[in-house]
Amino acid sequence: MNYPEELIFTPGPTGTDSRVRETMAASRVNPDADPSFPKFYQKTTEKLGKIIGTKNPVLILNGEGMLGLEASIASLVEPGEKVLCLANGPFGKGLADFVKNYGGQPILVEKSWQRPLQVEDVKKTLEDNPDISLATMVHCETPTGLLNPLEKICSFLAQKKIISIVDCVASLGGDPVEADKNGMDVVLGGSQKALSAPPGLSFLSLSDLAWEKIENRKEPYRGFYLNLKVWKDTWLKNQTFPYTQPAPDIEALSAACDLTLKSWPLVLENHRILAESVRASLLDNGFKLYPESHFASTVTAFLIPENINDLAFRNHLREKYLVQIGGSLGPLEGSVWRLGHMGYNSDAGRIFRALKTLDMAFKDFNITTNLAISFARELD
Ligand SMILES: *Cc1c(COP(=O)(O)O)cnc(C)c1O
Repeated sequence: MNYPEELIFTPGPTGTDSRVRETMAASRVNPDADPSFPKFYQKTTEKLGKIIGTKNPVLILNGEGMLGLEASIASLVEPGEKVLCLANGPFGKGLADFVKNYGGQPILVEKSWQRPLQVEDVKKTLEDNPDISLATMVHCETPTGLLNPLEKICSFLAQKKIISIVDCVASLGGDPVEADKNGMDVVLGGSQKALSAPPGLSFLSLSDLAWEKIENRKEPYRGFYLNLKVWKDTWLKNQTFPYTQPAPDIEALSAACDLTLKSWPLVLENHRILAESVRASLLDNGFKLYPESHFASTVTAFLIPENINDLAFRNHLREKYLVQIGGSLGPLEGSVWRLGHMGYNSDAGRIFRALKTLDMAFKDFNITTNLAISFARELD
């Protein structure tokens, strides 16, 4: 039987291109023994550097997105050290938890989840805490669909020589990051979001300032797997790896980078236009978007219509129409749905089909919508 392709419209992991999957399946290289592998790894990091917008070296770590977040906190934060943690969503708060876990003292600035972070919030906190040398923040808060305008905040922190650690996992490849231009020190990404590679890798770039801080810790971080200094002493110093690299995963990521870079930077414009049309279509049909402004181009979060049960509807959508959309996290679970129109899903045809199936599923629940047609009209 010829089943139609299942559409994975969750905001990461997303659907994956068959070329990415086939690259992974065809992998045969021994990453420990084949002299071509370090060269291939280096080339892949250069592709990622282009997407991040940095000349700094990039590392690929062998676990999904959270690994990069935890490794950067473990390697940079010293016991007792104050860290400015900006949070207007669950991932921002999670970074503050990591800081605490590694003995740091998070100075948490919590803001409304529906509004962007502001440089004024940073200035005020730094006046009260002049001894801060690190700051954490999230570019795209995936659970809320909000994209923080970090240009001003990161440039301001760079002027003050405060190291910024920025979670760009859900924006890289879909919204402009331009790390060097904006003065971002540590930029974190994951394979399974807007690059649409399978889950399993995180990657990060670190500035000279960040590396200096890691090298000059008063108290060394004792761990191995999360210790970025280990990578400095192996890969960055003499192109060897601290442990066996997952070659098939990295080959898939490299193929995914090629697809993103093929139409770079137009691919960002494509994400923006499609995301705008998705939002317009939802608004035309009486839905309410979760953020008040500063919408991400990779994910759209909107309120679940009253008297629809979250899980009952999403199970129906998946079982009858082979389409998965995302619920949300924490306090938004049960009241917010998310469409992950990033990477492989940033495609008018696939978005049309996802919206058309939503229309059909809503009809099964006695709600009339015309999301697909409105989307197509908005695009026109
Ligand atoms: C997905 C994501 C991560 C990583 O989480 P995973 O467990 O890899 O899904 C981190 N930060 C943000 C903002 C994300 O969207």
